[in-house]
Amino acid sequence: MSEVTVIGLGEMGSALAAAFLRAGRKVTVWNRTRAKATALVEAGAVFADSPAAAVAASPVAIVCLLDYAATRAVLEADGVLAALAGRTLVQLSTGTPKEARDLAATVTAVDAGYLDGGILAWPSHIGGDATLIYVSGPKNIYDAQEPLLRQLAGGLTYLGADSGAAAAMFASVLSYLAGRWIGISHGARIAEAEGLSVAGFGEALAALAPALAWDSRHMGVVIETNAFTNPESTLNTAGGDIARLVRHAADSGINDEWPRFAASLFQRAIAAGYGAEEHAALVKILR
Ligand code: NDP
Repeated sequence: MSEVTVIGLGEMGSALAAAFLRAGRKVTVWNRTRAKATALVEAGAVFADSPAAAVAASPVAIVCLLDYAATRAVLEADGVLAALAGRTLVQLSTGTPKEARDLAATVTAVDAGYLDGGILAWPSHIGGDATLIYVSGPKNIYDAQEPLLRQLAGGLTYLGADSGAAAAMFASVLSYLAGRWIGISHGARIAEAEGLSVAGFGEALAALAPALAWDSRHMGVVIETNAFTNPESTLNTAGGDIARLVRHAADSGINDEWPRFAASLFQRAIAAGYGAEEHAALVKILR
């Protein structure tokens, strides 16, 4: 009997299995493409011949496949759900809250425990003290698996009994990251066009990190409490700055899709009468 099974050995699943091995756990692994297990087997993992054998090998199975469709393809293969009875499945593949709740229903129907997680980290960060993984599902099952899961992520955070909560938080964070990644790419084009170092731009953003942490907390509280009327920075000000990015793109002859999109949202909020309010009041036109 091994202590933990890892199903899915892509970039992330391999990092999870490697972290368990580093922590001294007995690990069973399975992946559709067996060759990806070679290094892990050399490091002490046991490769199971089938997903059902992998599940049967340990009291808990961690799944980290491409998505929920791949997860269902694996779990609905011969004997896998039956092998899960009395065990715990921790789904760490990314999905929607509905997919998480639906899979929780499938797994609990065969008398297995289910936890759903969202990994907010890159594979090289797995096992780190500050690494963040959100988990949700029944509290007693979380408590039983918490020591194991904390070996993957020192920042492991429990979000409550709703199986969809971790996927929902992941989606909220991903929304932020999407805007950030586009913003950095456009900022890099500005730097390139103006002869600035793009690596220097990256350093400038890193130096801003504490202020951005403050802004994140501030916007969360302002939006949750609808406290838009005491602004340090108004929609008018931010909207004017972003409109200037469109003119700047024209001056520099660079792509303007991102500033145009951003400026149009801010303009709609200003036209709706929120210009004198906090910049977080942008949320009002999305509600
Ligand atoms: P990879 O593309 O590296 O690996 C995908 C895995 O899914 C492989 O094990 C692949 O098997 C398997 N797979 C895909 N389709 C099927 C199928 N139909 N049947 C069986 N197995 C299948 O992805 P990652 O490891 O990077 O990502 C895995 C999960 O982790 C995703 O949900 C991702 O969102 C999440 N994640 C990843 C992060 C990252 O930085 N990489 C960060 C945060 C979350 P095979 O090897 O045979 O192709």
